[in-house]
Amino acid sequence: MLINNDTIVKDTDPIIREKSEIVTLPLSKEDETLLREMLQYVKDSTDEEKAEKMNLRPAVGISAIQVGVKKQMTAVVVDDLDKNGEPEHFEYMLVNPRIVSSSVQKAYLHSGEGCLSVVNQHDGYVVRSARITVKAFDLCTNKDITIRARGYLAIVLQHEIDHFSGILFYDHINKKDPFKEVEGALVI
Ligand SMILES: [Zn+2]
Repeated sequence: MLINNDTIVKDTDPIIREKSEIVTLPLSKEDETLLREMLQYVKDSTDEEKAEKMNLRPAVGISAIQVGVKKQMTAVVVDDLDKNGEPEHFEYMLVNPRIVSSSVQKAYLHSGEGCLSVVNQHDGYVVRSARITVKAFDLCTNKDITIRARGYLAIVLQHEIDHFSGILFYDHINKKDPFKEVEGALVI
């Protein structure tokens, strides 16, 4: 499938609000190919030269609904720093990811969030859980995994998993007071 900024489903298309279905495991060849193409999109999108040439918008994650496929699959590539300031790299091709626990503490990105499917700007804090535990099948490692995510990775995973329910980041922005600070929240 050709995945670029023209083929990605935008929020003007009602399909983006539809629910994604649970995927049968083991993966069909078709599902596996699509998920690999989604990961490739994310990787290529952050390579300036490729992004320009191939019409890709930079992203850290993409979900299948964004290419018009209503299946619970997402590819995520996140670079962050650990507690000691050392670089950490996370790369997943997740099938049927489930959030099995979430921290009470909230977190949000100071700069707000963006999305490949959202063209217009929506300013405001997108308040999410600071830490989550996710269970999924991961095609990168070819096994069932448990991810204990915090900070930026936790935000990205919640954003992607929301896509399976047709939820977009700006649904979480406080309409009356978009930049309302949340007490005790981790600001990233
Ligand atoms: Zn998105």
